[in-house]
Amino acid sequence: MRLDCAVLGGGPAGLSAAFYLARTGLRTTVVEAGVLGGRCAALGLVSNHPAFPEGIIGRELAGRYAAQARAHGASFLAARARSVEERGGGLLVSLDGGALLARSVIVATGSEFLPLGLPEEERFRGRGLEHAPLDAAHLWRGRSVAVVGGGEAAAHQALRLAEAGATVRLWVRGADFRAVAPLRRALSCNRRVAVRTGVSVRELLGGERLGAVVLEEGGRRRREEVDALFVLVGQRPRLPGLPERAPGLFIAGDAAGLPRQTSVAAGSGIQQAMAAAAFLSS
Ligand SMILES: Cc1cc2nc3c(=O)[nH]c(=O)nc-3n(C[C@H](O)[C@H](O)[C@H](O)COP(=O)(O)OP(=O)(O)OC[C@H]3O[C@@H](n4cnc5c(N)ncnc54)[C@H](O)[C@@H]3O)c2cc1C
Repeated sequence: MRLDCAVLGGGPAGLSAAFYLARTGLRTTVVEAGVLGGRCAALGLVSNHPAFPEGIIGRELAGRYAAQARAHGASFLAARARSVEERGGGLLVSLDGGALLARSVIVATGSEFLPLGLPEEERFRGRGLEHAPLDAAHLWRGRSVAVVGGGEAAAHQALRLAEAGATVRLWVRGADFRAVAPLRRALSCNRRVAVRTGVSVRELLGGERLGAVVLEEGGRRRREEVDALFVLVGQRPRLPGLPERAPGLFIAGDAAGLPRQTSVAAGSGIQQAMAAAAFLSS
């Protein structure tokens, strides 16, 4: 059966797109490789989503996005999308174990974290070198960890780890820290977080797990022990194999390189769903 729209990724962007498409009566399937709700499902209190003045826990918000799409008739498929290609006047989505044919595709596969670019990084990934603890911050209670990064994601993670009871060193490579004033205030008031600027991580050391790093600060190198290093030095769109251009192909949310916010992703999903609906009726 050919779908009207295959939505790749079930985060805020994909679920909002699916809700809009399904409510106009279009046959829509969301393909999700992990957890419905995407990154949003792992966030703690989301305090910057419109219409929730008290904030809302990420998992609950994610559940609402999914419930709305389901209530309007979208269906869900647990699979990873590998690639999209033009086929027989439509689009063929190759999955890990099967394929889907659709008249249109919305790619809403989110973003991935950038690495530091150090030789030992792959070896330690998941073994002391992490990206986002998100709702697993409590695992680091009583531990001494470091966060590397100079933006808001790094600031959020440092605070979340500190709230969960970890002692946190926040290392910023540049001379300045790019975060909004309330975040800076929260960091400077938190006695569990020590912020240092002008610090670069040069080497990762350890056996089975990461145990220490070599830092460069003011032209000098020195070793520091860490229980874990959280790397939040940027993100890039995470996309399956895509044709450069294809009629009926749309990209939404973090995957489109938009500002990474849940509400922006949801709005972009709706915008791309409207574009897809217009394409399908033309
Ligand atoms: C540490 C951190 C803190 C944040 N805090 C906030 C905050 O306080 N407020 C806020 O508004 N935003 C916050 N964000 C950003 C917010 O989580 C994202 O902007 C939002 O989730 C993006 O939605 P999305 O649907 O585009 O992508 P995602 O939420 O990433 O969803 C993408 C989905 O696609 C799936 N997927 C990926 N590849 C495939 C594939 N090939 N096939 C099938 N499925 C696939 C993934 O499993 C995932 O479920 C935070 C992000 C991070 C990392």
